[in-house]
Amino acid sequence: MDKSETKELKEKLLSNRKNGYDRLAAAETAAVEDYCARYMAFLDAGKTERLCAAESVRLAEEKGYRPYVRGMELKAGDKVYVCNRGKAVMLAHIGRKSLTEGAQIAAAHIDSPRLDLKPNPLYEESELAYFKTHYYGGIRKYQWVTIPLELHGVAALKDGRSAVVNIGADEGDPRLVITDLLPHLGQEQAKKPLASAIPGETLNLLLGSRPIGDEEETGRVKLAVMKLLNEKYGITEDDFTSAELEAVPAVNACDIGLDRSMIGAYGHDDRVCAYAALKALLDLEETPAKTAVCVLADKEEIGSDGVTGMQSAAFDTFMEDLCAAQDVPVRACFEKSFCLSADVTAAYDPDYADVYEKRNAAYLNYGIGLCKYTGARGKSGASDADAETVAYVRRLFDGADVIWQIAELGKVDAGGGGTVAMYMANRNITTLDAGVPVLSMHAPFEVVGKLDCWETYKGMKAVYQAEN
Ligand code: MN
Ligand code: MN
Repeated sequence: MDKSETKELKEKLLSNRKNGYDRLAAAETAAVEDYCARYMAFLDAGKTERLCAAESVRLAEEKGYRPYVRGMELKAGDKVYVCNRGKAVMLAHIGRKSLTEGAQIAAAHIDSPRLDLKPNPLYEESELAYFKTHYYGGIRKYQWVTIPLELHGVAALKDGRSAVVNIGADEGDPRLVITDLLPHLGQEQAKKPLASAIPGETLNLLLGSRPIGDEEETGRVKLAVMKLLNEKYGITEDDFTSAELEAVPAVNACDIGLDRSMIGAYGHDDRVCAYAALKALLDLEETPAKTAVCVLADKEEIGSDGVTGMQSAAFDTFMEDLCAAQDVPVRACFEKSFCLSADVTAAYDPDYADVYEKRNAAYLNYGIGLCKYTGARGKSGASDADAETVAYVRRLFDGADVIWQIAELGKVDAGGGGTVAMYMANRNITTLDAGVPVLSMHAPFEVVGKLDCWETYKGMKAVYQAEN
């Protein structure tokens, strides 16, 4: 074979993975930037699942989505949503075809790892006031000390009212912090493994140091803090019992890199896919062939259990309601439906190359990563999509010029993780995982590539617009 023949054969037979920037149409560059600017605003507005749900509803209503009321008549082109207990959102754009033909679903999650306040959080020690926390989701504890934190959530009062708490997000607000040992006295701590060097019970938020009242009294710093909280939110110490208060990094999204090609932020997992799934739905200009459904779920980071998680019957109820409007059994709809479980994957990090398997890793700027399976210890906890489903998505994405790559989380024995995919697949919905590769996933400040964000949006659109 001569040189040109080999080249030809190579092009014909071997896969040719290319950096997304060598494939991105020049005309798309402005759209990428515009999309990412909107995504960054979405992140800043929604640092908790409640705030993210509220922002999603606001954006949906702007685009003509109405709250679904049971029994409502629904016709092709109608746009409805249900907000589940303020923490998860399900939206549908009713398609031209009957739901017997199935729905095209994108499911992402809007909860992220964070520090929740305990039900009895407030205490004083050595004349400093603190909140005790209980971490939510998989965090590396050492990453959460000595960074500015803000607090969001609600205190539900006995009289039915709720106090909405926001400390640290507004301009000029004070922030909270968890202290750490100085290196001078950290010799013993420094010898410990990362996972145990910072015990969970030391993740206490520093709240105040100024005492009030008579110097004979004790607990004066705690009292001063409680007085401030009472003045601002009308709550007393007992109200923490029925509160959900979440400490999250007090950092807004920003461009990363001299070339501004990346975005650094808290909560890319999984708001980067949630935004893509939502925005693609809201941007559909024509009535889709099949009903397009977007699910923004809560509780993924702790196993998708609970009323607002993906295992909740809330999703089945929503779909049953849509199906009832067309006299279609929901089970018949599910068996013909397709779901893209839109969740992030790990981006190959050259600094930690030994945990990745280079030939099957997802790379920054190579587009949305398709994961046939996730899971750990031999695919446990994965729905493991069938080959036909992967082929279906290849066809959809290639048809819409979506830049995509195939991805595994890391080396077979390095660990693993799961998504909502198996909970959709268990419902007899054909499901495949796909999402944006993330650097430093689950850290208080994660990094994604702008190109990958954009391609994920295009991928979601292709799912919603599929004819079959
Ligand atoms: Mn996730
Ligand atoms: Mn996660």
